[in-house]
Amino acid sequence: MESIKIFGARENNLKNINLEIPKNRLVVFTGLSGSGKSTLAFDTLYAEGQRRYIESLSSYARQFLDKVGKPDIDKIEGLTPAIAIDQKSTSKNPRSTVGTITEIYDYARLLFARVGTQHCHLCGKKISKMSSSDIIEQILKLPDNSKIVILAPLIREKKGTSHDLLATLRQKGYVRALIDGVMVRLDEEIELGKTKKHTIKAVIDRVVIKDENRSRIAEDIEKALKESYGEVEVEITNHEEMGIEKNLIYYSEHMACFDCKVSFEPLEPLSFSFNSPKGACPICDGLGIRFAIDLKKIVDEELSIEDGAIKTMYGFNKGYYFLLLKAFCKQIGISTTTPLKEIEDYQKKAILHGSSEVVEFEWKNHKMKKSWDGVVKISYEMLKNEKDFTEYMSEKVCDSCKGFRLKPESLSVKVANITISDMLSQPIEECYSFFLNEENFAYLTKQEKMIASSILKEIKERLFFLYDVGLGYITLGRDARTISGGEAQRIRIASQIGSGLTGVMYVLDEPSIGLHERDTQKLIRTLRNLQQKGNSVIVVEHDKETIENADFIVDIGPGAGKFGGSVVFAGTLDELKSSNTQTALYMSGKKKCEYFYRRKQEDWIEIKNVTINNISNLSTKIPLKNLVSITGVSGSGKSSLILQTLLPVAKELLNNAKKVKKVSGIEIDGLELLDKVIYLDQSPIGRTPRSNPATYTGVMD
Ligand SMILES: [Zn+2]
Ligand SMILES: [Zn+2]
Repeated sequence: MESIKIFGARENNLKNINLEIPKNRLVVFTGLSGSGKSTLAFDTLYAEGQRRYIESLSSYARQFLDKVGKPDIDKIEGLTPAIAIDQKSTSKNPRSTVGTITEIYDYARLLFARVGTQHCHLCGKKISKMSSSDIIEQILKLPDNSKIVILAPLIREKKGTSHDLLATLRQKGYVRALIDGVMVRLDEEIELGKTKKHTIKAVIDRVVIKDENRSRIAEDIEKALKESYGEVEVEITNHEEMGIEKNLIYYSEHMACFDCKVSFEPLEPLSFSFNSPKGACPICDGLGIRFAIDLKKIVDEELSIEDGAIKTMYGFNKGYYFLLLKAFCKQIGISTTTPLKEIEDYQKKAILHGSSEVVEFEWKNHKMKKSWDGVVKISYEMLKNEKDFTEYMSEKVCDSCKGFRLKPESLSVKVANITISDMLSQPIEECYSFFLNEENFAYLTKQEKMIASSILKEIKERLFFLYDVGLGYITLGRDARTISGGEAQRIRIASQIGSGLTGVMYVLDEPSIGLHERDTQKLIRTLRNLQQKGNSVIVVEHDKETIENADFIVDIGPGAGKFGGSVVFAGTLDELKSSNTQTALYMSGKKKCEYFYRRKQEDWIEIKNVTINNISNLSTKIPLKNLVSITGVSGSGKSSLILQTLLPVAKELLNNAKKVKKVSGIEIDGLELLDKVIYLDQSPIGRTPRSNPATYTGVMD
């Protein structure tokens, strides 16, 4: 079997180690914390692999890389290029998400751009772009004997007499037009109100759907599309008789919403990139968050306006707005000397959000007329370009994109009935099963399926790897800055598997940390998967399950620091079990962590019927002669129970050491077993400048 041979490793506390480990296997380095296992894995094996890789690059490329020192070692044989997957490197970029670092987002952008269906972001209606032959085909699908009017929409809700337009229509030989919903003959005199809005559609043809009219209808449609630059409307005059729901159908060669009068750009991958102006939310520039005025930081309700209740309007250089505010208050009768909390709510609202009333006031001997826009708006304008604006502003999720960073048009594109934001906000586990379900994509046309299949494959594969390393609970939209080191490491493992590299040595530190047992199994499977692609996987690990699943185990020890640094054991699990190392003894159960077994507990303090603050009728027992921790979320009542109940009672009664009962409804048993109570808090121990830790502890005496 091929192997990696280490000769004379002396980095840090390593004691001139010689070691041979099999190549392309799952190898675990274990041992006490500080025994030197990480030094061997990261500072020796990985560092040397990295150094040799950099040495092999051209001098041009090398100048961009940090110089890596040679680890203290005689030599290593059989080393392959090394990749470390540690828990440190999480992204600090606010534009990074789990989706972007795993590249799933890139494939999602491609998918939504290629086979996504645009919906109108204002009314939610599906927007479809059709070719003229699509439109003709659709119209000819109407039931036979439907009576239709084919219309070319020319003007929509526009002011003016449209004299020229009507003249042109006559000239072109059109006989009728639909003006403001009324059918008129063009050879009659038409007088349109100049100041009114009008809608004009040319009547191209009136025809009945039947076989012999097919080519005539096709010609009509082409003509209408030409006349109105890509739009056509079909009115079905006998729609009720024919059992057709709508009497008017609208078709367009463009992407546009007829009702909302908005048109849509053709979709491309950049439409879904929040780093591009083509896709980014215009309100937050694609950050998903924006800074908004935090009224709590600006308004002090305890103060009056004169005393500075509105911090941004008060003090040096804020005179203009302060005068305007005072004039505004005077004009609508708000007292500026009453604390803000005492004035009426509607008045407060006017101060904060403004009113349309025009205020007259004097500013530097000029008479000014201005409306009061409100504290919120004025403060925002004042602060948005200042450096210390965070003093008055808070980060808020962007209202427009709800944190999904894309413009509304892009967030209204759907694939398989979900938007890209739906996809990003699902936990990976759900997202994976959604993509796995072929039925969701059955609606795609044959051509779309062909386009989508390779993209879907990439997405599914990556989702599976993430799910498989135990990250099924995370969402793709999760800000990369908020994931833990362990999660970041597992994401990197998942993307390494996706990369399909072979012949690499992967070095990982404690990937099982923080994992539930069920997920540890998944993780081990993933590591195995990585190894089976033809890679050496070296894991620094304490976890028993991982050790048991390794092909080869190296135990570094026996102690920590200068007592460690030697190879205590190197071999397979079976060999380890029959050896006599500390690790082996614990693994085989010959030694156990007695720590977890409770001593027999005889003496307790028992607190009964506590009802104070948010605690109601609680009874509990606290074991004596133990280190006991009272825990719970903030406000759960920890302090109420101990500092306001147990401590005062104990303080008051312990000197007499007698059985205490019924103190203000509370019963405490067991205090008689104690001598005294000492309360250690964080208050300062001395106020005199002559006092220091030495005098206080008596060392000076
Ligand atoms: Zn619409
Ligand atoms: Zn936004």
